[in-house]
Amino acid sequence: MTRLVVVGNGMVGSRFVEDLLAADTSGRYDVTVVGEEACEPYNRVLLSEVVAGKHDLAALTLPTPTSPRLTVLRGQPAAHLDREDRVVVTSDGRRLRYDRLVLATGSAARVPPLDGLRSRDQQHGHDRHRGGDHLTAGVHALRTIDDAREVVAATLNARRAVVLGGGVLGMEAACGLARRGVVVTVVHPASTLMERQLDAAAGRVVELAMARLGIDQRVGVGATSAVVEGGHLTGLRLDDGELVPADLLVLATGTVPSTSLAAGAGLTVDRGVVVDDDLRSPDDHRVFAIGDCAQPPEGGTGLVAQGWEQSRRLAAHLCRESVASASASFGSSHSSSPGVAANGSTARPLSTGRAPRSSTSGSDVVRLKAHGLDVVTMGVCGSDRADDPAQRTLRLSDPDVGRHVEVVVSGGRLVGATCVGAGAVAADLVTTYTRRTPVPADPAYLLLPALAPHPAAGPTSPADLADDTTVCRCNGVTKADIAASVHGGATSAADIATATRATTGCGGCRDDVCALLDWLTPASSPDGAGTGENHVTKGKHMIHSTETAGS
Ligand SMILES: Cc1cc2nc3c(=O)[nH]c(=O)nc-3n(C[C@H](O)[C@H](O)[C@H](O)COP(=O)(O)OP(=O)(O)OC[C@H]3O[C@@H](n4cnc5c(N)ncnc54)[C@H](O)[C@@H]3O)c2cc1C
Repeated sequence: MTRLVVVGNGMVGSRFVEDLLAADTSGRYDVTVVGEEACEPYNRVLLSEVVAGKHDLAALTLPTPTSPRLTVLRGQPAAHLDREDRVVVTSDGRRLRYDRLVLATGSAARVPPLDGLRSRDQQHGHDRHRGGDHLTAGVHALRTIDDAREVVAATLNARRAVVLGGGVLGMEAACGLARRGVVVTVVHPASTLMERQLDAAAGRVVELAMARLGIDQRVGVGATSAVVEGGHLTGLRLDDGELVPADLLVLATGTVPSTSLAAGAGLTVDRGVVVDDDLRSPDDHRVFAIGDCAQPPEGGTGLVAQGWEQSRRLAAHLCRESVASASASFGSSHSSSPGVAANGSTARPLSTGRAPRSSTSGSDVVRLKAHGLDVVTMGVCGSDRADDPAQRTLRLSDPDVGRHVEVVVSGGRLVGATCVGAGAVAADLVTTYTRRTPVPADPAYLLLPALAPHPAAGPTSPADLADDTTVCRCNGVTKADIAASVHGGATSAADIATATRATTGCGGCRDDVCALLDWLTPASSPDGAGTGENHVTKGKHMIHSTETAGS
């Protein structure tokens, strides 16, 4: 048996355990998972939907496989890593020996160094939010299920909320709080909301759209301190001296990869735990890192699709490695591989293997999950293209109705797009972008669906989608995968989720999966369209997004 310890039982660690046990057909691995959070793993992506009242906390639980080869230790953070003895020590003193170690410790909410954010005894704490850190009453991060529970509870009495940070999470939190009837102000020190995704023109359209939702904004102004009276937050003081009254402050000021365990054990850490193409630490061939805590050569995205793709890839790799090395006792709990020190400090060459469905193309598509605000971005932004003469930018901007669509084309391909308030065209552009399909000779046609929905330019029929079109981006599930699950007996979206995992990420692909199910189900298609082979456009089976979903 090869002893494998996974540290972190979040979205990626728990998925890795599933992937590994499924791939380990020879039963060589004995797996122990150590999770800091006491609850079962859950879908963190949907926490902003919980704040918005669109998802129930109870429905977020992710599956945990049952296997005699699996031990799950919840509510026990790994406190120390001893690479010499190959032992993980938990906070309650348990010592777990490993032959392979997978770090999936995720990231934590960043707490900016502002006066008043922490309760008095914690003023000199870390710059990250963890359960043990005490924020001032009324101040909350939004990273964990406990955070979401507390924010929702706080909205029952809060009259005014401030969201500090106008990035993706801040926008989602602000719209969610507004949906609950709280008066919200977003404070964002950069000159544009979502400045990592939007230029000034698009940002302005978003500002106006937010104002229409009743959300107040202070853009280009930072905060200096949280004002606290009687131990409870009463407002946020801004750079320009203004005091924004608030009894609830939600911090959306970025995340910090959780790397302290790795750094304490002498592993190379930059922003995240540095790993190579095989997700292995360059310092120790026995140690791997995946998910938000990892820093692979291409950089970490902070998005779950990347972590889940790493999970599939690492599970496949470890099982291949296990089989290949069985005869040489590599990975045995009693032996080291030839030429490798017991602590693994001399890395050996690896065979590189990529999961067949790994999809990095289009991994920078960002889709806001915000009630009443429709923003989708991908690739380059027109104003970022500097003086690249190969790129051409076309824009349709109509701030008064909250609509802004920009496309950037180069070499006959779409290399970037920004869509605000233009859901249908966004769906088509994501498809064009991620599939790298040629754009029309006159790229202005890419903007037309935003103006005049026309059958030819409107929603796509499932029949028209190529089999390899990705429907669920979080899980890399294609139209063909979904068709196979239906032909294999799936009769509901839940069945398809069980068979393929589609819809189990951000959930944005649910409508598309249902449209495909309708189209593929014979009972709903007496003329044969339900076979999935009859390329007849059916009005009732329109699919809006092939790849916007991000789910
Ligand atoms: C509100 C919100 C909305 C989001 N929306 C999206 C979205 O729309 N799309 C998207 O792709 N991504 C989104 N994300 C990001 C997504 O949730 C992360 O990419 C994903 O959770 C990463 O998974 P992970 O397992 O690497 O980290 P996590 O899910 O953070 O899990 C890490 C786990 O490790 C545990 N841990 C840490 N240290 C230790 C230790 N020493 N010992 C034991 N356990 C430890 C932590 O407690 C945690 O349970 C969102 C995140 C939030 C908070």
